Amino acid sequence: MLLNVQELANRKEPAVLEESIDVNPLFAETRDVTPLSPLQAKVTAVAADGVVNVTGTLTGKLQLLCSRCLTPLEVEYEFPYGETFKHVSQEVADRGEQDDEDFVPFHGERLELRPYVEEEMVLSLPLAPLCKEDCKGLCPDCGQNRNETDCKCQQQKIDPRLEALKGWKPEA
Ligand SMILES: [Zn+2]
Ligand SMILES: [Zn+2]
Repeated sequence: MLLNVQELANRKEPAVLEESIDVNPLFAETRDVTPLSPLQAKVTAVAADGVVNVTGTLTGKLQLLCSRCLTPLEVEYEFPYGETFKHVSQEVADRGEQDDEDFVPFHGERLELRPYVEEEMVLSLPLAPLCKEDCKGLCPDCGQNRNETDCKCQQQKIDPRLEALKGWKPEA
């Protein structure tokens, strides 16, 4: 997603960029996320006075694991994307600091959007996906998926606070 900023600024009208990005390398180290499609990025870029505004959507399909019961979930996502880039001197760009949170500094006539788009996609993923709101998760003792069957572990273990009440009967 290489944006020619100079050209964009000269032509004074938005440019639309579309790219299909292979995101498999981003998740090579984790079992929690398995891409089922490339990331489709479609953005519109506008440039004026050294500032480039990029907005668009990131769509695709992937498999996540329920954070409680580890059931695979197929998720079709559509995340909004928006970033403001500001042209800075080579010196400032080399320092790589971002002292203003409102924009991302860059230097040069070209701006490669791909790493920003990829980062946004990764950050937009839910931290603790659930197969359903009230997922009961796995039993910490036997590993049984409690959405499927109730294991006996919970019943055998009596809450110590209740233990004290065992044998206690209300006076008739
Ligand atoms: Zn679940
Ligand atoms: Zn159990």
